[in-house]
Amino acid sequence: MADKLIISVSGLRGIVGDNLTASVGVEYGCAFGGFLDSRRGAKGRRPSVCIGRDSRPSGQMLESAVAAGLCAGGIDVIKLGIVPTPSVAVMIGSLALSGGVVITASHNPAGYNGIKLLLENAMAPPKDLARQIKNFFLEKKYTLADSLSCGCLRTSNRSAGEHITRILKIIDKNKIAEKKFKVVLDSVNGAGGPLATKLLSLLGCRVVAVNTEPTGIFAHPPEPTAENLAGLCEIVKHEKADIGFAQDPDADRLAVADENGSYIGEEYTLALAAKYVFSRRKGCAAANLSTSRMLDDIAAEAGCTVIRTPVGEANVAAAMLENNCIIGGEGNGGVIDPRICPVRDSHVAMALILELMAETGETVSRLARQCGAYYMAKDKFTIDPADAQKLLDGAKKLFRDARLNTDDGCRFDFHDGWLHIRTSNTEPIMRVITEAKDRQTVEKYADAVANLRRQILG
Ligand code: MG
Repeated sequence: MADKLIISVSGLRGIVGDNLTASVGVEYGCAFGGFLDSRRGAKGRRPSVCIGRDSRPSGQMLESAVAAGLCAGGIDVIKLGIVPTPSVAVMIGSLALSGGVVITASHNPAGYNGIKLLLENAMAPPKDLARQIKNFFLEKKYTLADSLSCGCLRTSNRSAGEHITRILKIIDKNKIAEKKFKVVLDSVNGAGGPLATKLLSLLGCRVVAVNTEPTGIFAHPPEPTAENLAGLCEIVKHEKADIGFAQDPDADRLAVADENGSYIGEEYTLALAAKYVFSRRKGCAAANLSTSRMLDDIAAEAGCTVIRTPVGEANVAAAMLENNCIIGGEGNGGVIDPRICPVRDSHVAMALILELMAETGETVSRLARQCGAYYMAKDKFTIDPADAQKLLDGAKKLFRDARLNTDDGCRFDFHDGWLHIRTSNTEPIMRVITEAKDRQTVEKYADAVANLRRQILG
């Protein structure tokens, strides 16, 4: 059964009632507990972890299962209930815990769920430690506690308060409140609705709440893409709102609709947040290799730099920590502000964007235009590893004049755009992302890759 599960650096994902069952949850809890116990040393204190979940109805079953596995291994567990993924990270720091668990399948369809792990630094485990945890799970390397040493279970409802307090500390609440922004919020009935509604109200916004009940009954397909947010855009227009915000089910990603009800794309979330952060402080940013060049333009204008990392939140967070970055994230609407926590947080992203609007007095559409007009195309296709390597080798020859980064597949930077070709970490697919100032240039590079594919793979 376990071989059908998707096990990656960030945890485990599967279909509930099929390959993701209560027994998998218990065993994964035992494995994470065994791993944490192996790290504490002879005199280390007994590990404690917090556990939160998104609003999927299967979350309660998996939370109970994982918590039971952890307690069985002698780990103390604090249940946070339905909370955004970043709130779990916040609580690891606030309570000085040994780690955290999030029960979520993020933007995947309702039938899926997953178990995501965070370490004591509130970050996903790096590759070598993720491999160790996987071995604990697959080889059942853990030992169980005896009757007197089982872990204790308690609950805490402090995470929303802690999370909001951290955000309000870095934001000028009054400056935003003076503007009395009208904000449409679509939380897809995921975990983010209650916290986001409260935060926006505290920032003096007039909130039009759509799908903010955390029922786990997704009102539309949960990935915050243009085609799934037509409803939000309509409401923004109808309500004559200043901005529309859409969260994914575990509320780490944020998409934005402008005051005209146009979906401006997830790439702009990080660009707008960074634009504000760089206007206040100097420092560097980190983003993955597939993220828009808008960020480099914004950083350059502010005299700042951008560090590029392989795709994956943990890689961006690690680079941020190593380089003391002041902002970072991914082009999928994921913004990481290290003052809150080292994981993507849609709530801090909302606050930063609202503060940018308040500070400049500009509309979202004008601010988005100032970020630079780029055109991006994304393609993906199934490929086996040998063919993927052939294609990458062919691309290196074809684009030999470009600046090349091979940290994650091949990223080619040209004077008029860039191209990133990489294989997925979790599926046998290859992704091709192209960005340039105009559609023709994007098509030029995308067509060149398509031709190369035909030549090499037939
Ligand atoms: Mg997510």
